[in-house]
Amino acid sequence: MSSPTKPINVIVIGAGFAGLSTAISCHRAGLNVTIYERAPALQPLGDIISFGRNAGLIFARWDRALVDEMLPLSIDLRHHGFRIHKYTGEHVTTQHSVPRDMEAPTINGHRGELHLVLVRYVTERLGVELRLGCEVVSCFEGTPDGEGRAGIELASGEKVYGDVVIGCDGVHSKARELVLGHETKLQSSGYAIFRAWFDNKDIIADPLTRHLCENGDTFNGWIGPDVHFLVSSLKGGKDVCWVLTHKDDSNITDRWSFPGKLADVYKIFEGWDPICRRIVSKTPEDSLIDWKLIWQDPLPTWVSKGGHIALAGDSAHAFLPTSTQGATQALEDGVTIATCLKWAGRERIPEALRAFEKIRYDRVCKVQETGKTTRERWHKASWDEVERNPKSLELPREDWILGHDAEGHAEEMCERIFGDRSGNMRGESKI
Ligand SMILES: Cc1cc2nc3c(=O)[nH]c(=O)nc-3n(C[C@H](O)[C@H](O)[C@H](O)COP(=O)(O)OP(=O)(O)OC[C@H]3O[C@@H](n4cnc5c(N)ncnc54)[C@H](O)[C@@H]3O)c2cc1C
Repeated sequence: MSSPTKPINVIVIGAGFAGLSTAISCHRAGLNVTIYERAPALQPLGDIISFGRNAGLIFARWDRALVDEMLPLSIDLRHHGFRIHKYTGEHVTTQHSVPRDMEAPTINGHRGELHLVLVRYVTERLGVELRLGCEVVSCFEGTPDGEGRAGIELASGEKVYGDVVIGCDGVHSKARELVLGHETKLQSSGYAIFRAWFDNKDIIADPLTRHLCENGDTFNGWIGPDVHFLVSSLKGGKDVCWVLTHKDDSNITDRWSFPGKLADVYKIFEGWDPICRRIVSKTPEDSLIDWKLIWQDPLPTWVSKGGHIALAGDSAHAFLPTSTQGATQALEDGVTIATCLKWAGRERIPEALRAFEKIRYDRVCKVQETGKTTRERWHKASWDEVERNPKSLELPREDWILGHDAEGHAEEMCERIFGDRSGNMRGESKI
């Protein structure tokens, strides 16, 4: 491990899950870290988000109190499981939940609520500086006095210098442009999601939909040709959330999220189990979002030429929701970056960031692909085949994804690359 010299100053752009994970992990590794976030205040925005048990392991290791705070916000399917139906209404199979593991729990809940738990942890518990209302307009390598090695410029004109900049600024990343040296065009994945989150009042008042909420949390899916509809109730059935993934070839511009119209949702449900329309009819129209799904081919690199700027989370790799791993992979990035910086030390930041990319790149690309394979398995289901093997429609639970210990793996790789556990450096790094 690197000898303790001047601590590394880490600048993080963006306070999404990638930015928060990078900040928490860097703080735990004894590095100085500051987050610069464009939003003037952090509101509980969004709706359903998934964290696999590979994320639960990270949360629990950071602090068990985080898990205690997040679990009551998360769906609890120990009694209900995931009930999968054909779009015409026939029940196909029920995928049972795995027993809860407090060392590595699965957490699925409201993005904004879970996000604010982490924000409070970062700012109040760890005392990491989070500067809100700071839009980063550019980042650069090399500084006039040679003191810092990289920095950012804010919309206010203020320049901030540090040793390393981590661009966690989401799918429309500014940092990406600098790392690649050119703008990247986001592509439509050919799909969009209608999504909504609302309280259970109208669902529970209707005898035909009441069962979705009255006995606690539930999760139901209807699979049709090139469409799937997922409905969950959470927090003891108090809140309801649904997502409808369907074909959509709209051009992706700088906007990808729009207010949705219930009339457009009903069109998709022609010929479907009438319960689907009934559930949607309880949705307050102002809670409906039409969210275009982006696909981005893997970038050639996540690290700048000079080696002092790296991308993490969605700015490096956007995920389709059907992978259920976008936010989790963002957490894994942050953990890995901190581990690499800790091992490499302040004098070898480019090696650290290249090690991060080396450790993460293939895994991320492979997990990204599962977003397509799961969608295709559902959208192109052969119903004769499903009759023979109903479990083929279950959500995949692959151990290489969910059983992964990002921190353990990064430690092991860094030991090989940078030194040994006794603290000796191995001279030349192998990056
Ligand atoms: C408001 C919002 C709502 C979302 N809702 C959902 C949801 O309901 N379900 C779901 O699955 N996923 C949702 N996502 C996406 C999801 O959070 C990410 O896909 C995933 O967690 C990876 O996180 P990330 O940190 O890489 O990116 P993001 O979560 O997108 O975070 C990026 C952060 O960087 C900030 N930022 C961007 N540009 C700049 C800049 N120039 N300067 C400073 N800060 C900047 C953004 O304000 C944001 O806070 C949402 C994202 C956002 C920002």
